[in-house]
Amino acid sequence: MYTPVQLFSKYCITNNILEQIRCVSQLFFPQFSSDKYKVKRHDFSTVRTTDIDYFKSILGKDRILTDDQDVAPYNIDWIKNCRGNSQLVLKPSCTEEVSKILSYCNEKRLAVCPQGGNTGVVGGSVPVFDEIILNLSLMDKITSFDDLSGALVCEAGCILENLDKFAREHNMIMPLDLGAKGTCHIGGNVSTNAGGLRLLRYGNLHGSVLGIEAVKADGSVINCLKSLRKDNTGYHLKHLFIGSEGTLGVVTKVAIHCPVMPKAVTLGYFGVENFENILYLYSNAKSSLGEILSAFEMADCNSISHTVNNLKLQNPLAEYPFYVILETHGSDEIHDQEKLTRYLSTQMKNGLIVDGIVTAEPSKMQSIWTIRENIAAAGLVGTYLYAYDVSLPQKHYYEIIPKLRERLNSKVKMVCGFGHIGDGNIHINIIVPEFSEEVYSLIEPFIFEEVSKLNGSISAEHGVGFRKPQYLHYSKDPSALQLMRDIKQLMDPNGILNPYKVLP
Ligand SMILES: Cc1cc2nc3c(=O)[nH]c(=O)nc-3n(C[C@H](O)[C@H](O)[C@H](O)COP(=O)(O)OP(=O)(O)OC[C@H]3O[C@@H](n4cnc5c(N)ncnc54)[C@H](O)[C@@H]3O)c2cc1C
Repeated sequence: MYTPVQLFSKYCITNNILEQIRCVSQLFFPQFSSDKYKVKRHDFSTVRTTDIDYFKSILGKDRILTDDQDVAPYNIDWIKNCRGNSQLVLKPSCTEEVSKILSYCNEKRLAVCPQGGNTGVVGGSVPVFDEIILNLSLMDKITSFDDLSGALVCEAGCILENLDKFAREHNMIMPLDLGAKGTCHIGGNVSTNAGGLRLLRYGNLHGSVLGIEAVKADGSVINCLKSLRKDNTGYHLKHLFIGSEGTLGVVTKVAIHCPVMPKAVTLGYFGVENFENILYLYSNAKSSLGEILSAFEMADCNSISHTVNNLKLQNPLAEYPFYVILETHGSDEIHDQEKLTRYLSTQMKNGLIVDGIVTAEPSKMQSIWTIRENIAAAGLVGTYLYAYDVSLPQKHYYEIIPKLRERLNSKVKMVCGFGHIGDGNIHINIIVPEFSEEVYSLIEPFIFEEVSKLNGSISAEHGVGFRKPQYLHYSKDPSALQLMRDIKQLMDPNGILNPYKVLP
């Protein structure tokens, strides 16, 4: 019998930590979501042999999974929080196939769960009951790229990291970057309105997505795939699909604006004594570094020490209560490095930074990012993770962490706070040996009530998915919720697209 950590080393045959965690996660089967969260199945049809025969007529038998073992990994989400009981995975390779599948499912009242890279952390990407999993991974072609405007057009199943590599060959980059980049799809990114590490500099997807092609629940294809920066011709329909988490349509193609690749990238990694100092550092970074500031991230001591210890990584700094990762994207390495070094020495003189390094060496920068990007993954090795992602006004950003520590006390192993402080987005990881109803009821709805009192949002960038619809009223006015329901009714009157998700 192996311990989780032994299993981790035994099965870790790739260098991508995220893939390693996924690989080991699949050896542990979490409880079915319907039992764990006590949900009742809606009145959808169940898949029959005649349905499978129809799907075979469209996809052939190689792009249909029905065997229990083959289907199992598609039923479990990345953080092992949710598990569905689908018996069928369909893998279309073009828009026309998606259209035929949805048209059929709509007619037969078969529920569908669209799935990209399955890195979502709110349970939106896996079924709750026996919904058909529509996995987009075979739709992974780049259709066109315009060197002058930076407009990239591709299919929804392209992996974010592959798109970034492609863009870099053309001296451009993708406008978003996140820890899951080696696995998540651009279609999943768009459907969740993913934020990530550099939103501070390059903005969110409502700004950088130029166009979308999507298939509605009835199979009709909506073509809004323009590659223009400006297009004020009526309603901006593409925005309906950005962040709607597969409940309004299946995104099949995306046109996105790629910014120019920075000539110089510099990274600072600092140890800080208290949270207040982080706020001063952020404010000073905005004024001293101005237009070259591309990321400003924070993590508390629990987040960093748990990650380096659990994943056997090297922390280049000693232990401090807080850490800051600050990145610049500019056009002159010497100038940018000078600016950052001057910033560091001033902040050290002020006593805001206790210890720190500045580097432009790619391998050193990568090893610092590796720690930051794997904080979430570290919480999964041999433990159970309650993961939250909220937005708060920056001055109240960290208040929730001591409150949770006091409330949960010895009932949990650790409460970690880290995130994109430049965007007011904190991630809260609560680590326990295994799922406990008692701990769960102490966290929810408390955490959302606290966020609401401070005028925050219950979801900053991960979405609502399956895990948060019942708490949506903490962040959305009843009038806005009603409009959401009306839009859903218009786009998907039979409710077949990702049921039990987003809408309360
Ligand atoms: C280590 C790690 C780090 C992360 N860091 C960040 C971060 O910094 N910022 C951030 O925002 N998120 C982050 N995430 C969360 C996750 O990676 C993002 O939400 C990502 O955008 C999901 O993409 P995906 O392809 O994996 O989508 P999935 O997880 O497969 O699906 C997510 C949702 O989108 C829907 N969907 C997927 N594809 C389509 C499609 N083609 N059409 C319609 N609906 C679709 C699904 O039904 C589901 O509701 C992180 C996750 C991990 C594991």
